[in-house]
Formats: sequence, structure tokens, C-alpha cells
Amino acid sequence: MALLQIHTFPDPILKQVAKPVEVFGSALRKTAANMLETMYASAGIGLAAIQVAILKRLVVVDLKSGSEDESERDPHVFVNPNIVEQSGETISEEGCLSVVEFRAEVKRAERITLEYQDVDGLPQTLEADGLMAACIQHELDHLQGILFIDHLPPLKQKMVKRRLAKQTRLSA
Ligand code: ZN
Repeated sequence: MALLQIHTFPDPILKQVAKPVEVFGSALRKTAANMLETMYASAGIGLAAIQVAILKRLVVVDLKSGSEDESERDPHVFVNPNIVEQSGETISEEGCLSVVEFRAEVKRAERITLEYQDVDGLPQTLEADGLMAACIQHELDHLQGILFIDHLPPLKQKMVKRRLAKQTRLSA
């Protein structure tokens, strides 16, 4: 397995729209495994392929990412995911492996129904709520080139983006 490079704001690749996955099987399984490894190494709970410069509709999620014991992990791989139903409203604090050292509250649907394919291309359905639902919505946004900071009110968004861009220049 290999660790992949996570691209961070304001890298323009994060604004790209991902394309559907059409080839399933071993190469896809390997990409998903590398993404999970990269996510674990960065202590994140979700990662979209676009964050590692793969422009495909592929997302990995593991809410137990922080578990000391690897056997307690709960990895999910969502290929070509789509939210087909959503309800309720919840606000929670989010961060992102592509947005360094910044967290903010974001409003999301409280419950979702997700349709996706597994790495073998088989159709699957998942009902999720709470943190899992918020995390999936965050990751699916990435596939459309949307970051969680794009959900902030316009003025705050402008301030935050300016600060983040400056930080990146200083550390580059
Ligand atoms: Zn993110």
C-alpha cells in the first residue's frame, strides 16, 4: 500500500468535478485501500478521491479512524455514490484534510439514504444519520468541487479563504 499526497486549499484541483467510476475490480480496490491508508495516516474520517488528485466518484469513510486498535476500524468505500433521500437538519463542526487547521459549523441534512456501488460494482444502499450522514454529505460535496468552507456565509468565507491562501503561501 502507498500513501497518497493530499491536495489542500487553494489547489484548483479541489474545484474539479469527479467523473463516474466505470472500471471495477483489483485496480479500484487498490486505490481505495491506498485512500484508506492515507486517511488513517492523517487521522481523518473521510477522504474523496479528488483530494488525492484522482478525478473519480470514489469516497472512503471510517468514523472509527482514530481507534488505537486496528481491528476496531470500520472502513466504508463508496463508488459512484448518490444521496437519493434526505431529511431533517443538523449543524455540526467540520474540518477537512484539504483545509488545514480550520474548523467551522456547517448545516447538513440529518438523515440520508445513499445509493452507491461497492468495489466490485454491485449496487448498495445505506441509511445514515448523525455524524455518518454529515461526513458522507461532506465527501460527496468534494466530488462536485465543493469544500465545507463554501457553505459559510459570504463574508466569513472570503475572510477564511484569504487567510488560508496566505498561510499556504507562507508555508510553501
Ligand atoms: Zn473534506
